[in-house]
Amino acid sequence: MSKWAANTSEIRDNGFGTSRNGKTIEGAVLHHGAGTNVLDYVANANSRDSHPTYHVSDGGRVTGIVHPDRRPFSTSHSVDSVAVTFEIDNESTGGDWPVSDKALSAVIDVIVDHARQSGYKVIGKNTPGKDQPDLFFVAWHQQYVQTACPGPYVLGKIDWIIREANARLNNHSQASNNVGQEGDDMYLIQIKGKANARRGGLYAVIKGEAKFIGGTAPAGVPVFTDEAQIKALQAVIPGLK
Ligand SMILES: [Zn+2]
Repeated sequence: MSKWAANTSEIRDNGFGTSRNGKTIEGAVLHHGAGTNVLDYVANANSRDSHPTYHVSDGGRVTGIVHPDRRPFSTSHSVDSVAVTFEIDNESTGGDWPVSDKALSAVIDVIVDHARQSGYKVIGKNTPGKDQPDLFFVAWHQQYVQTACPGPYVLGKIDWIIREANARLNNHSQASNNVGQEGDDMYLIQIKGKANARRGGLYAVIKGEAKFIGGTAPAGVPVFTDEAQIKALQAVIPGLK
């Protein structure tokens, strides 16, 4: 059983979507609304049968559309059966299809909430065609079907979204409110390398960059042993060896 993310302001679940057929939530798929207010469109019957799990307004207001226990209709792909999906309103239409900082911050809170509900310790970028069982994946529409969605602006923010989501997932003080800039948060992670490998150990991640500390990790520090998981972390945290 899944719950609506804690930062959901309103629920407008009109019964769209369908069963997940026993599948559980393993990640999130991002879409942009291609409009500045598509809430009414996605909450009601529409010609594209577009009904995400969440709609996020330009002001960062989150509305629940299809209960997370059910499969949303967003991506025209089976990924929807294992994902929560977002339609994010654009700040303005056309160009690089910008969305607001507040909207992205709200999206990150929802992602973190569902990663936690599903028991994940790491949030990572979806790699098409690759099974990434240890990551709560963040994907976007274009990875599955030919579409401009979610637009160049959101695509340019993916790495930042994932860094920020991991910082919040690990309960560290939220990074600065300036989207795209890392805050002053610091957290510890430990990588267990293969036997005799010249890597691994305890790292402090400061402003998004890993510094090797060595020694033994204090209790509560997440330890990563899986190669795929470590690779995914290395992709988003520079300095991790
Ligand atoms: Zn889309």
